[in-house]
Amino acid sequence: MGDSSRLALGAALVAAIIIGLIYISGGPEQSAEVAQATMEPGQIDGARIINADSEPENWLAHGRTYSEQRYSPLDQINEDTVADLGLAWAFETGTDRGLEASPIVDNGVMYLTGSWSIVYALDALTGELLWEYDPEVPRGWGRYACCDVVNRGVAVWNGKVYFGTIHGHLIALDAKTGEKIWDVDTVDSKPPYTITGAPRIVKDKVIIGNGGAEFGVRGFVTAYDTETGEQVWRFYTVPGNPDEPFEHPELAEAAKTWGGAKWWEMGGGGTAWDSMAYDPDLNTIYIGVGNGSPWNRDIRSPDGGDNLYLSSILAIDPDTGKMKWYYQTTPGESWDYTATQHIILAELDWKGKKRKVLMQAPKNGFFYVIDRETGELLSAEKYVPVVWASHVDMETGRPVENPNNRYSGRWSVVSPIPIGGHNWHPMAYNKDNGLVYIPAMEITSAAEPDVNNFKFRPGSWNLGQDMRTQTDAPPEFFAGKLIAWDPVAGKERWHIQHWGGWNGGVLTTAGNLVFQGTGDGFVKAHNATTGKTLWQAPAGTGVIAPPVTWSKNGEQYITVLAGWGGAYALAYGRAAKAAGVSRGGTVLTFKLGGDAELDPMRYVMDVPEPVGPTEDSQNAELVKMGSEAFADNCAVCHGIGAVGGGVIQDLRYSAPEVFDMYEDIVLNGVMEERGMASFSDVVDADDVRAIRAYIISRAQEGDVPTDPLYMPDYILEELGLAPAADAE
Ligand code: CA
Repeated sequence: MGDSSRLALGAALVAAIIIGLIYISGGPEQSAEVAQATMEPGQIDGARIINADSEPENWLAHGRTYSEQRYSPLDQINEDTVADLGLAWAFETGTDRGLEASPIVDNGVMYLTGSWSIVYALDALTGELLWEYDPEVPRGWGRYACCDVVNRGVAVWNGKVYFGTIHGHLIALDAKTGEKIWDVDTVDSKPPYTITGAPRIVKDKVIIGNGGAEFGVRGFVTAYDTETGEQVWRFYTVPGNPDEPFEHPELAEAAKTWGGAKWWEMGGGGTAWDSMAYDPDLNTIYIGVGNGSPWNRDIRSPDGGDNLYLSSILAIDPDTGKMKWYYQTTPGESWDYTATQHIILAELDWKGKKRKVLMQAPKNGFFYVIDRETGELLSAEKYVPVVWASHVDMETGRPVENPNNRYSGRWSVVSPIPIGGHNWHPMAYNKDNGLVYIPAMEITSAAEPDVNNFKFRPGSWNLGQDMRTQTDAPPEFFAGKLIAWDPVAGKERWHIQHWGGWNGGVLTTAGNLVFQGTGDGFVKAHNATTGKTLWQAPAGTGVIAPPVTWSKNGEQYITVLAGWGGAYALAYGRAAKAAGVSRGGTVLTFKLGGDAELDPMRYVMDVPEPVGPTEDSQNAELVKMGSEAFADNCAVCHGIGAVGGGVIQDLRYSAPEVFDMYEDIVLNGVMEERGMASFSDVVDADDVRAIRAYIISRAQEGDVPTDPLYMPDYILEELGLAPAADAE
């Protein structure tokens, strides 16, 4: 044990004694804050997280508690006072990519992550930067981030701050100084693995998964010793080559559900890139598993089969890494229907009996209630329109699929689309009224199989689907909602319709409030019972992260990261422009009576005119070739159909000199430092010429939105700006 940890232990002991004394002398009312004030920030352990309700002034873990309910007992900000909420401070991260993190707040210090896996420690009262740690992720690795170079936050434990990086490292920092203590490469330097999820810590083990299933990787979850960084266990979510010994017995069972192709050479998928929840009484950690790789099962397992443990919820013993049970939400997954979405643990009155349940709204459109002791399915009801299955059979626990929705050699309607009925954005569960709040999406599109032409390309997108068909839906088909869901009745109680599809995660409080940021650049509070909007403030950019709440010196605060980005903002630019404004990433903190100012228009840029048509851009054959190469290699970051979503450069509006540099950029990687790596391993000079012709041709088309900074009048009015002069 080092000196600093000895000191920390000493401080924790002193704090524990003081807590005891205060409980004897004073009331519990004032005791918590006094005792906590004597504690070094960052001295979080399992006992504190399990008893988090006794110190609601702190936000100790990703979802506040191990149950990940994102419900706070704080009620100073409530339905009667929320109208007085105002900005206390804003901290600029200096980045212009998506922000998705849930800050951890402990004794006045706020720990959070931003784009490119950078960690910040702030004075929670003032927003002043205490320290910053940049893991210097190789910017070229951004090419392997399916869904923006985002990070969903840190875990704090015993004086250390833990986080994953885009290039697959798990790093422990000193919570006081930000100095690195250890650094483990969890993916053996192998792209295209990435980490965007927040680690969870259970019994001195830090648990982390990874992403990359769009590119072709094999998913796994690993537990490391919090002090040393040594590996304790690893659970692979899909089987490897069955001719070789399986790493653990669960994989022998899983391998029986795959067949007809060498799936292990294409990775198989099953990445666990976000959700976990822990039940200390059952000593079980629940982990959500992602989609297959490639997406189309006809390619990775042409003999059919469930392809375990894709799109499953795994119940794992955190001491050993052994599986207790699993529930597969989408057997034989073929639509990118991950079950990595937020898992909430709760006790519900279920047909006259108390049941310990877990709840999830995975991408596939069904809201699941599962007995978390046994894995028994209690309820599965559609929370958004669903085409792929008519219902879930409660006898078998399996979905009843609609015929012809597995592509069957033709295009088919897809709903939800691959972005899901609900993605990573955290839900919240309010135990006072029994409602779950789902940041949902209602989007219908089309998909076409790409089986015959499929060739596995390492380091590139390998879907077995033609991405171009996803452009067919008009922007008005991309709808976002905040749904208040009654999990016992299996029904929606109310919803709020958003302007765009991609909005923030959710927080609910004992003040009978629900907080959510929106893609069109606001932070809002609603009455938790009725959904009525009670308060809103401009965020300056689209908000996708979930708010958290905490208190200090008797004042309650709401903090949320505003930073437009993420998968939808990159890929679905045609619908994603809802962000409207392009301020850089900012941490916003609100309190009652707050009167700080935010200039929401700060980073709006000049937009060059699109370049004129060229001989190449009028060559239909070349443009068609370019559209295919663009869909395969460029669309997920620069937007399907070459329409940017306000995060990464909209290529149609590049300056003319950029069009002269295409080979240098795409083949020679001259813009790697800005996150644009060389793609010379997957495209050649002919492809580059065709892609360029395609983008210029797209710039000339009038049928798509042409102003990437377009803002609807209601946003301009909210910002106190004159509505734009109408184009005649
Ligand atoms: Ca996926």
